Amino acid sequence: MSQAGACQPPPDVDTDDCLREYRHLFSPDILAGKAAFITGGGSGIGFRIAEIFMRHGCQTIIASRSLQRVLEASKKLVAATGQRCLPLSLDVRQPQTIVAAVDEALKEFERIDILVNGAAGNFLCPASALSFNAFKTVMDIDTVGTFNTSKVLFEKCFRDHGGVIVNITATLSYRGQALQVHAGAAKAAVDAMTRHLAVEWGPNNIRVNSLAPGPITGTEGYRRLGGKFAEKARHFEMIPLHRAGNKTEIAHSVLYLASPLSSYVTGTTLVVDGGSWLTSANDFPALLDVWAAGATTNQ
Ligand code: NAP
Repeated sequence: MSQAGACQPPPDVDTDDCLREYRHLFSPDILAGKAAFITGGGSGIGFRIAEIFMRHGCQTIIASRSLQRVLEASKKLVAATGQRCLPLSLDVRQPQTIVAAVDEALKEFERIDILVNGAAGNFLCPASALSFNAFKTVMDIDTVGTFNTSKVLFEKCFRDHGGVIVNITATLSYRGQALQVHAGAAKAAVDAMTRHLAVEWGPNNIRVNSLAPGPITGTEGYRRLGGKFAEKARHFEMIPLHRAGNKTEIAHSVLYLASPLSSYVTGTTLVVDGGSWLTSANDFPALLDVWAAGATTNQ
């Protein structure tokens, strides 16, 4: 591979569909015999993580609130990869729904080896316009939900068998990203949780890491958080790699963290953002315009 090739994104599709072509870079059986529980696995980044895991021999459980969403996603994933995928409904804010989903999964799979905490909610909103309830909701889904799901998997599988946890976080808090106090605070707390749990659960052969994506095309996050605006305003030229990332790039990095390739990596955050957080604009007035124009709910 040329030097330039090392920065080229792999092909991707913008919709919640499987890749039309895929070339293995890692060993195709690197996750053979493993089962992964992926919250938020029915859409966006979580869907692509499920696909890439399955293309590497892994069986998956994809779980989110909408059973319809995960059902449809699982059909696509099974058709494209030939691996098993169990779609389940849960709300990460409600521990009893997680317990029920994990019990259901353990009827189908001997054990669960990997947990990816991908479920999250986000939108642009200035702190002054953010309701108390909106702030709490994001904390509940992102932070409390990550704890709830990790604790259930620990008790039911990982404490006795070991395991790997990958928490999908964000770089928002690193520079106090405008209009993102809710998600930035929630994800920063998850990064802290990653370190705490890595320390406490390391002796149980459990690795816990965070992965913080930058702007990722073909996702709800990109559509809601001003991705199109950033494209038009040529903000991506400020990113050291001069582009947004794609879902497969995130999935490849999660694959690394979930696999034995990272057997001595725990308690850390892998930032996968093309160097974005170091240089990108944190333009409060411009983002206020995006918010006022309704870019929080469309594009
Ligand atoms: P997405 O498609 O909206 O994924 C979020 C998923 O979470 C959905 O599948 C949703 O499914 C699920 N979910 C939401 N609330 C839930 C709840 N209470 N219980 C269970 N599941 C719930 O968004 P995405 O943009 O791909 O983001 C995926 C992850 O990457 C998130 O953690 C996000 O914060 C992170 N991230 C994304 C970007 C980006 O550029 N897209 C950048 C940085 C970080 P249901 O509606 O069916 O519940």
